[in-house]
Amino acid sequence: MRSLKGYLPAQSFAMVKKKSKNLKAGTTTGASKVKEVSAFSTLSEVHASLKDCKRCKLCKGRTQIVLGEGSLKPAFMFVGEAPGAKEDESGRPFVGRSGQLLTKMIEAMGVKREDVFIANVVKCRPPENRAPRPAEVDECRPFLEAQIKFLKPKVVIALGATAAKTLLHTKEAIGELRGKVHPYQGTKLVATFHPAYLLRNPPAKKDCWEDLQFAMKEIGWKK
Ligand code: URA
Repeated sequence: MRSLKGYLPAQSFAMVKKKSKNLKAGTTTGASKVKEVSAFSTLSEVHASLKDCKRCKLCKGRTQIVLGEGSLKPAFMFVGEAPGAKEDESGRPFVGRSGQLLTKMIEAMGVKREDVFIANVVKCRPPENRAPRPAEVDECRPFLEAQIKFLKPKVVIALGATAAKTLLHTKEAIGELRGKVHPYQGTKLVATFHPAYLLRNPPAKKDCWEDLQFAMKEIGWKK
């Protein structure tokens, strides 16, 4: 099991200086959507560049930006869709009902919650918990990709369709994406159901558990 040494609370990242004269790291430049993610050299820079982010309209309704939290050397990285009310209030990912279920799932894998990293596709709560819009996903996607690049998890577990489709740049349904290992940024990605779906459809928990076991086996993880 990974040590807790690398555990870093989400809000504890230092500010960084601009990477270039004209562009802040992570800046999008209009229609060409040029992302300067390659300009980031650390995870702290990624997170610092999200401070006071106003790149999309979600900034208007948010209380806090939910960057993500957990181990900085995670074997597993879980990616959800977007913060909900509790997450927006606390600044932490997956702390509501879905989060309680996710924590149980993680513990069932023989891992502590603080030994994995948990993030979302978009870092701000969409109004009324609606799904994030394509433009919002496009703005936030580079930060998630950069988080994965620096965290280098052994396996990314995409929770639900938004996470799986965003990361894999596909329109395929979650049913098609499950049960396979998808090569992703030099690591592996496995897709499963979102905990909110499992709360609505408890029989699917069995399928999700199979997916998690599949992910564990894929990286030789013993409980
Ligand atoms: N649902 C998500 O996708 N992410 C959270 O952080 C909470 C609920």
